[in-house]
Amino acid sequence: MPLLINLRQLEKKDLTLQGELTPTELELEHLDEMIHVKKPLEYDLEVEQIDDAILVQGSLLLELECECVRCLKTFKQEMDLPDWAAHLPLVGEEKVVISNDTIDLTPYIREDIVLGFPQHPLCSADCSGLPKGAAAKLKKISGAGKFDESSSAWTQLDKLKLK
Ligand SMILES: [Zn+2]
Repeated sequence: MPLLINLRQLEKKDLTLQGELTPTELELEHLDEMIHVKKPLEYDLEVEQIDDAILVQGSLLLELECECVRCLKTFKQEMDLPDWAAHLPLVGEEKVVISNDTIDLTPYIREDIVLGFPQHPLCSADCSGLPKGAAAKLKKISGAGKFDESSSAWTQLDKLKLK
């Protein structure tokens, strides 16, 4: 279920919205190679109308599955936004999209969640990276190790050209 605010209901009283948004609804599934979202986001929000705007305040909680950029270990990190708020104008240039008397809050939540993603996830601040053996293995696989073989191939090629 997308997170919708019904303006007709809001005219009568302030609203409380509680529930979950799936990673699919938030379009967070393939956003970042190192960060995976597998569990739904939990929200608990109060919505009120103040003059020509809607104020949304409450908490957002989302669990991220990150891969450490240094050691490639998978670890969980919680994004806990206990004081999340959004101010949605109903008039003017910045006014929100209203369809069938409802506003979809999902994109506003998504935007702030994405901005809050860790830029370079680390399993711990002092992560020392891959153990030496594993690093060597990776280098071998990716071909980023020593260039002895290829350089000798080039040497051979140069020799051929000279002939
Ligand atoms: Zn690490």
